[in-house]
This record gives sequence, structure tokens and C-alpha cells, in this order.
Amino acid sequence: MADLLLIVLTLWGLSGSLLYLYQRRLALERQTGRRSREHDTLYELGVGLIAEHGVQALFQKLIDRSVKLLEAEGGAVFQCDAERRWAECVAFTKGGETYQGTRVNFGQGPVGRAAEDGAIYNQIGTVEVVESSPGELAFLVVPLKWQNEVKGVVLVMRSANQPFTDDQEDLLGLLATQASVALENARLIEVERRRSAELEALREASLRMTSNLELNAVLEAILEHALKLISAWDAHIFLYDGEHLKFAAALWAGDVQRSPFSEPRQDGLTYTVARTGKRLVVEDARKAPIFKDAVWDGAIVGIPLRSKDRVLGVMNVAYEAPHRFSDEELRILDLLADQAAVVLENARLFERTTADQRRLQLLYDITRDLAVSTDPDQILRRALDLTKENLGGLLGSIVLVGPDSKQLHVGNLAGYEDHDFEGLDARLDMRVGKGFVGWIASERQPALAIDVLEDPRWSPVPGVDDEVRSALGAPILVDGELLGVLVIFHREPGVFEDEHLDLMVAICRQVGLAWTNAQRFRQIERRLAEQTVIQHVAQVINRRMEMGPLLEEIVEQASTTLGYDYVGVSLVEDDSLVLMASRGHDASVFRLDFSQGITGRVARTNLPVLVGDVDRDPDFVRYFPGTRSELAVPIRKGDVAIGVLNVESPELEGLTEDDLRLLSLLADQMAVAIENAALYERLRRHSAELESTVASRTSELASALDRATEADRLKTQFVSDVSHELRTPLSNIRLYIELLGQAPLERQPAYIETLNRETERLVTLIEDLLSISRLDAGTSPPELIRMDLNEMSRALVADRRKLFSERGLSLQLQLEAPSAEVMADENLIAQVIGNLLTNAMHYTPSGGSVTLRTEYSKSGEWVTLSVSDTGVGILPEEKVQLFDRFFRGSASRDMKNPGTGLGLAISHEIVDRHHGRIDVESTLGEGSTFIVWLPAAGRIPAAPPATSD
Ligand code: ADP
Repeated sequence: MADLLLIVLTLWGLSGSLLYLYQRRLALERQTGRRSREHDTLYELGVGLIAEHGVQALFQKLIDRSVKLLEAEGGAVFQCDAERRWAECVAFTKGGETYQGTRVNFGQGPVGRAAEDGAIYNQIGTVEVVESSPGELAFLVVPLKWQNEVKGVVLVMRSANQPFTDDQEDLLGLLATQASVALENARLIEVERRRSAELEALREASLRMTSNLELNAVLEAILEHALKLISAWDAHIFLYDGEHLKFAAALWAGDVQRSPFSEPRQDGLTYTVARTGKRLVVEDARKAPIFKDAVWDGAIVGIPLRSKDRVLGVMNVAYEAPHRFSDEELRILDLLADQAAVVLENARLFERTTADQRRLQLLYDITRDLAVSTDPDQILRRALDLTKENLGGLLGSIVLVGPDSKQLHVGNLAGYEDHDFEGLDARLDMRVGKGFVGWIASERQPALAIDVLEDPRWSPVPGVDDEVRSALGAPILVDGELLGVLVIFHREPGVFEDEHLDLMVAICRQVGLAWTNAQRFRQIERRLAEQTVIQHVAQVINRRMEMGPLLEEIVEQASTTLGYDYVGVSLVEDDSLVLMASRGHDASVFRLDFSQGITGRVARTNLPVLVGDVDRDPDFVRYFPGTRSELAVPIRKGDVAIGVLNVESPELEGLTEDDLRLLSLLADQMAVAIENAALYERLRRHSAELESTVASRTSELASALDRATEADRLKTQFVSDVSHELRTPLSNIRLYIELLGQAPLERQPAYIETLNRETERLVTLIEDLLSISRLDAGTSPPELIRMDLNEMSRALVADRRKLFSERGLSLQLQLEAPSAEVMADENLIAQVIGNLLTNAMHYTPSGGSVTLRTEYSKSGEWVTLSVSDTGVGILPEEKVQLFDRFFRGSASRDMKNPGTGLGLAISHEIVDRHHGRIDVESTLGEGSTFIVWLPAAGRIPAAPPATSD
């Protein structure tokens, strides 16, 4: 460019003098070169300035370049504040440090004046800017202007001997102008940057939105920007779902509003924009056909908020008076509308993502919660609570199908604070096929009532669901069977959507699975408990316990391990049931007639009975206030019930077929156990009997041994006694035989008589000994024959009469009956009578009398024979020994009787052998009576004779 100019100028210079031309050329060359440099600098500066976006940097660059270009010694830039009417130093160079931080009031010095009047000041003097301003200087002050406004002042200076030229004045002017443009650009850029930063912040905010409240806040912020940027009066944003417009945000009367200034009209501007998706500008409502019915004279622009090919909403911005929308305004509004569309799209995405996330979370929560739960009730409760809470429902309920598959019952409730279960159940009277819930139950399909008031399936229950406007429900199926319905009610219509329906179905599927799992778990648990009990009972049986502890133990097991509320075992005794053991309640009735109660029926029929509702069983007798259901099973032995095992529950239908099965099993075990216990008891009794038999046998043996020992002792005694008794007569005989040999003849008869007597005594003794030894040996048992005691008595008395009379004794015979027949051994009885008569003779002094008497006892069972004497009598203390062998009383010594002390012993023995008795009655000095009792012939007396008999 410089070269081209040079050529032109050179050509042009041909017409002038060469010198002039040359001079001129040189001058021009200088000028052109300078200009060219200046322009280069300017250009560079301009580019630099334009490239510089920060105002501060721009000021600094401006002053640096100005000082350099004008070869000044220092400079500063001041920025004007028109309101405060001062110019403040915003940049300076070396040599201009003085101005750092200074403010120059308008009109003060050249800087203040330039700031005020926009003129250029090129002068020499004092720059009256600050107190300590340097001395006389050449300075140039140029205003920075933009659109006729002084935005700032540039000051350069150098020593007074080098004043600034006009060219330099122009140059700085140009620089200032360029700087002003750059400055404005920078300002605009800054504004734009701030705005875009704000929009970015808005966009960011919209991305982070977590609620509708936040969405509204962002939309309101957008509207605020719109109003501010184009100074309009009102701004609205409506949301569009393809059909309806819904208010989202509004700003009018200078404030954020919660409702629109006016609702959009179906054929109005907003709906038109929404439907067409095109911007609509109305500069004067009075002239626009769309506003022909509206009494309004403002201006409005409606901008669609679009996302791809969908209109998400409309943004309206309006003026109260007609207004021409500039391209700039429309551009800004379009920008903001785009922004709003992004916000809405984000919100929509967010909403969907959040909803999806929430739904997934809910499903996860429910799945996790339900998976660990083994309590069906708890499963329903949790599922209902979580679903209601997450779907924001007003009410929620789980309705269960009754046993009849027709009636529906409230299983669980959420939100029905004022209602109780049973009351509500009765009020609702739900049935399969009836109402919304009934529809779900009968169709086994999920259902959504967007607005219950318009749903034909809805049947309202006043006082319960008055506030409900929408509903959502799904069936809970367990193994293909309908368990119930989960339903959530909402206060507002149109809240639930298809996604919610899908969610409900998923939740209900989870509930169904969890229910099945819980049920299986319970079954396993139950089986385990059952096995434990059966095992325990088996152990108990093996322990072979007694009946009482056995039943206690079984009942305890059934109660603790199986968890029955009440368990009782009764056993049959005659025609009633006796309670043997129970757990759960203090049973007050222990004996129950067969005709009474459910247990009575079981005992009677030998069949188990499961009663789901005891109040409906006519046989039921109430013992515990809480009982609602009962189960009783017979304990069988063959075809007969030997007892009843029964359990009671405080819940209606609280016992099931499972319980029946288990208790039957248990009852069978118990039957075995009871049988074992009974056997054991019998065995125990038997062994006790055996023991006592052994004991008595042992004692018998002991006494036998005693007796044997005694007999042995007696025998020893007997032998010694016999030896003694034999020795006496034998020594006498030997003595008298010796004497006989030496004695004179006349003494011999006396000796012979003594010898005879001693021999006689010896004979008697030996006979007695033989008798007793025969009796003891038992070798010749008595030969019993029917005989008449009278006859024998007569004969014996006749034989002895002479002997008695020789001793001065009278002998009488008293026979009370014509005969006295007994079954006896004649010889033995004769021996007894002979002994008694002999004793009476020996122990009765001369002059006395002896009476033999026979008679029948009063009962006629006995015959008595007595021998009474009027002799010396017997000492009372001797009576007990009288019948002992070899016992001889004081009387025998007094009377010098040659007896053996065996007579009474032999008599006693003989009478014993005849099953009779021998007694003595005696009074010392008066006499004695010996009485013999013998059973009358043909009679077997029941008891031995009594003395009185
Ligand atoms: P004994 O040969 O001594 O008579 P018994 O056995 O016949 O032996 O009698 C035993 C004792 O009973 C006699 O020793 C006598 O003391 C007493 N006793 C027996 N009969 C009578 C009687 N009729 N009167 C008094 N005492 C008698």
C-alpha cells in the first residue's frame, strides 16, 4: 500500500519542480512513513484493544501505547462516573504514578474539564489534578467518547520544552476513538459474558434441579431476565403436554406471581403458539385479529419452548402499550426461550430419571425389606407403607380375599387414622367384583383411576374416601391364587400414570413372592418345630416316665416349641375326661362329662375336631375368655379314645389343617407314651408286690429260722432234761438193787416196792417221751374217727374210780348231753383225759373231789371236756409255763408228786393236732379246772373257741 502510494505520488510529482518534488517527496515520505507507522500502531492497537476483553487491560494497553506512540514521558487514563461527577485514575504508566488512585472532579483542571466538556486540551502548564502535581509540563488531554458520552480521559505528558504537535493531538484523538470502540465492545462483551454466565448458571441450576419448586424458580429467573433485558411489563411461561397448557411461572406488576395474569384462551395466542410451534408477535393488540375479542391495547410476543420436535411450553412477554419488537429484543427472547426449553427438557428428563430412580429404589427397598421378612403380616405392612409413602398417597390399603373367595377383608391400612380395622371392614363391605378394588380382584388386573369421579368402577364410601380423587391398585397373586389387592388412593386427580401402574404390578409381584417365601419359611420352621416336638416326645417316651410327669412334659413341649396359646391333655376315666396337664391358662375345670364340650365330643366320637370359630359350635363350653378357635384330637388306643389333646387360640381361624395333622401325630405318640407309662406303672406295681412278697417270705423265713433255732434250743434243753429225768430213777434203781443185796430180808419188800415205783416212774417217763417224740416227728398222724367223748369219759372214770377212792377222793362224771361226738384219735384223746384225771388226783388232797364234765358249746360247734378238782390250785405266774415241756410247778414239789412235767405238754400238743384248744382256770388253794375244746363232729368251726363260747 505504501509502495503504491509512493508511485502515485511520484507520478503526480512529475508536474512540479524536481526540487520541490524532491523536498515534497521527502516530506511526504517522512509524513507517509510516520503516518504509516502511526496507522500500523493504531491498527495494532485497535486489534490489540479489540482482542482485549477486559476493560482494565484495555485501559492499560491504551495508555502504554499512547505514551510510546507520542513519545511522551508518562500518562494516565481516567474513567468517568457521570453520576458522581468525577474521573478516576484506572491506569497509568511510568511517570504517571502520581495519578494512581486519584479522582478528579468534573471541571477541575484539564482532565476534569475534558471529562465534563469532551474537548481536547493541549497545553503547557500545571496539570491541576493532584496536590503534588509535578511542575510545568507539556500535556495533552483527550476524551474517550462513545455515542456522544465522555466515558473517560487520556492524559499524556512530557517536558514543557517539547509541546505536543497537532498531529499528535489528532493521533491521540484517533487512538481514543479506537479505544472507545474497543471499550464499548469490551463492555458489551462483558455484559454478554455476564449474561451468558448467568444463563449458564441457570442452565446448571436447571440440570441440578431436584423438584418442581426448583423448576419454577429457574423459570422465574428466566422471566426476570426477559423482563429486564427488554423492559417489558409481564412475562409468562406455560407448560404444554400436547393438549393442555399448564401454568408454570409468571412475573407481572414487578413481582413473581403464583398464578397467571389471565388463563390462556383456547383460540388465543398462547394456544396458537403451542399448537403451531411458531413464534407469534403482536405489536398492537387492537389491530391483531387474534385479540379481536379482547379489550387490550398492549403488545405481546409468544415464543414456543421447543425440544427437538416437541413443544414443551410457551413463553409470553408483553407490554401494556403497543410496542415494536426489535430484532435484538426478539433475538434475546429467542435465546431465553431456548434456555427455558432446555430447562423444561431437563426438568422432564430429570423428572423421568428421578421417577425411574425412585421407582427402582422403591422396588429395591421393598424387595430387600420383604426378602428378609418371614412374617406375612409384616410383609404386607411394609409393602403398603413404602408404596403409599413413595407414591405420595393419601390412603393405602391391602385387602385380602376371604376363605369364601368372595368377600374381601381389610388386611392392612395406611392413612386411615380415624378408622379401626373391624369397623372399616364392616363399612366398606368389599366383595370381589364390586367397586374399584373388587374389579381388580375379579379381573386380576392392575387398575388406574385417573379421576375416581369419572371412573365407572368407583363406588364411593362416604366418610371414608371423600377426599380421594385418584386410585391405583394391583392384585397380589401367590402361586397363581389371588391373595388380595394392594391399592393406593390420592387426593388429586391425574397424579398416577402408566409407569406407576407398572410399578404397582412389580411391587405386588414382589409381595406375592415374599409372601410365598415367608409361607415356605414358616412351613419349614413349623416342620422343624414339629420334628423337635416329636423327637422330644419320643425321648420322653424312651425315658419311661410315670404318667403324670410324662403328660406334663409333652404339654410343655407342645406349648413352648409349637407356641400354642393353650394346650391341655385330658384322659378318659369312666365316662368323663380328667384334665391331666395344661399350659397357657390356669384351668379351673378338671373333670368334664363326656356329654360336654368339644373335647367331650372328641372323646365320644374318637374323631378330631377343628373349630375355626368356637362361637358357632353348639358344643363349645367357654373356660377362657380369649378363646376364638379350638382344635381337639383323640388319643386313641385301638378304636377307643383314651384321652383328648386340645389346643385353643385367641384368633379366629387361628388353627389350621396343619395343626390338626401335627396334633394327630402328637396324639398318636402320646397314645404310645401313655401305654408305655401304664405298662411301666403296672410293672412297677408288680415289682412292688413282688418286693413285699419277698419281704414277707423273708420275715417268715426269719421267724421259721427263729423257730428252728428255738426248737433246736428246746431240743438241746429237752435232751438235757430227759437225761436228767432219766438219771434220777435209774440211780434210785441202782441204789435199791445194791441195797437189796445187802439188806436183811424183812426190809427187802420195802426196797422192792421202791424199786417198783422207780421203775414205774421210769416207764411212765419213757412212755411220755415216746409219746412226745412221736408227736414231734409227726410220723403217725392222728387217726380221726367219729367218737363219743361221753362214752370214753364213762369208761375212763369207771377205770379210776377205785384209785380215787383209795386216795379219799370222790370222782364225778357230768355228761350234759346224751352224747358228745367229735372227730378224734381215740388213743390220743384218751391220753389227754387220762393226763388231766391223773393230775387232778395228784394235786387234790384227800377228801377232795374231781369232776369230769362234757358239754356242747352254745354255738354247737364245739364239744368241751373239763376236769375240775378242789385241789391246791396253781400260782398265777405259773400258768403261762404250765404247758411247757418238763415244767413242774410248785404244787408238784409240795405234793411230792412223781410226775414228769410232760403230761400237760403232751396234752396240749394232742389237742392242737385236733384243731382244738386247752385252757386252765385256777384259784390257789381252791382248785383248778382244765378245759379241752374239740370241734364237734361234722362241724368246721370258723374261728378258734372263745372263752365265752
Ligand atoms: P407233773 O408230772 O408234774 O404232774 P404235768 O405236766 O402233768 O406234770 O403238770 C405240770 C405241773 O402242773 C405240775 O407239776 C403241777 O405243778 C401243775 N398241775 C398239774 N395239774 C394240777 C392240778 N390238777 N392242780 C394243781 N397243780 C397242777
